[in-house]
Amino acid sequence: MEFCKRCLYTTAHPLGLVLDDDGICSGCRVHEEKDRLDWPQRWERLNAIVAPYRNTDGTNYDCIVPVSGAHDAYYIVHLVKERLGLNPLLVTYNRYFNTPLGIRNLANLRIRFNCDILYQNVNPESVKRIVRSTLRRFGSIYWPILAGQTVFPVQTAVRYRIPLIIWGAHQGLEQVGMFSHLHEVEMTRRYRKDHDLMGQEADDLLSGFDTLTEGDIWQYRYPDDAALDAVGVRGIYLGNFVRWDPKAQHEAMIDRHAYASASFGRTFDTYDHVDCFNYMELHDQLKLFKHGYSRVTDHASREIRHGRLSRAQGLALVRHHEQVPPRYLDRFCEWLGMQPEALRFMMDQHRNPTYWHQPSPGTWAFHGWSTRQAEMPADLPLPDAGFTATATRELDAGNRYITIGKGWPC
Ligand SMILES: [Zn+2]
Repeated sequence: MEFCKRCLYTTAHPLGLVLDDDGICSGCRVHEEKDRLDWPQRWERLNAIVAPYRNTDGTNYDCIVPVSGAHDAYYIVHLVKERLGLNPLLVTYNRYFNTPLGIRNLANLRIRFNCDILYQNVNPESVKRIVRSTLRRFGSIYWPILAGQTVFPVQTAVRYRIPLIIWGAHQGLEQVGMFSHLHEVEMTRRYRKDHDLMGQEADDLLSGFDTLTEGDIWQYRYPDDAALDAVGVRGIYLGNFVRWDPKAQHEAMIDRHAYASASFGRTFDTYDHVDCFNYMELHDQLKLFKHGYSRVTDHASREIRHGRLSRAQGLALVRHHEQVPPRYLDRFCEWLGMQPEALRFMMDQHRNPTYWHQPSPGTWAFHGWSTRQAEMPADLPLPDAGFTATATRELDAGNRYITIGKGWPC
């Protein structure tokens, strides 16, 4: 495992990453394009790409925009509706681990931007059966969410005959520089399977050794090529045309559209994942077990690339946050119908022996990425990364109705 000299990523990154002769990673090199590209010209290019999709007779939407109560949704809708002047159909997949703050943010989003929205609610028994299966088999509680939020927009494009889907940033580009911005990479079935779904399509979950049935997984099936071609479905990424900077974007949306943020134990970034009780908790700890690093390394590497943290400051933040115990595990166990001891046992099965060993039964020693930089002192001073929390995930609705239509009293 080799470290990038600039950010905190290593050649062990699961999305794949290479170092050049100067020891700088592909993700950092592609990030340099953000300060080199002619962004006004890129914006004109985007305008030209979306132009043919504008519905001129008022009989359909111009595009589909996948949203949630966090994760750049406000900024994406801001660009699509307020800057491109498109009329989007918003779509959202109910991920079940919703925080009150996430429900509030999503309700406020559709009210502020005055958009139509579709919700997909897959029945709870199937979702729980899939979570049990994917947790046991590949240490993931997030498969139904990753699958649902990436396939529901595509299914909706086919059903409503709306060919254009507009996504935010492409994670393969942002994290590891899998593509240049100029490649203008678009959504593909293949990337979704290989990276979003850890190589496991819906049909791959069905096996003789499992209890999952066709009835549990069909909602997560990607439309076939004939259905996609009949409508001409394509998915584009705004990050190829806009200088993507999640911190600055979230701060603009807090000021302009009352997006609400919240603090976490396991990272310093208060802006993303505020809609979920598990992403930055249980899901993030499983990432540390399997891959030897967690989301705070992603956040720190991004801030280093944007020049807001030094490498040492980023590493100090990683070491400070990454071993914080996850919260809300009892809530998850109660929802799934699993004893906490059984969850703990199952999670331990997925500790990667490259990064963890057991000096004695029941205790674990960590040898993950952040421990392997001998040249970096153990007592690095902890910086203020400059993120603010405007609310909490447990936000209280007070004594007002949370109606189905509005979703939150705001
Ligand atoms: Zn790097």
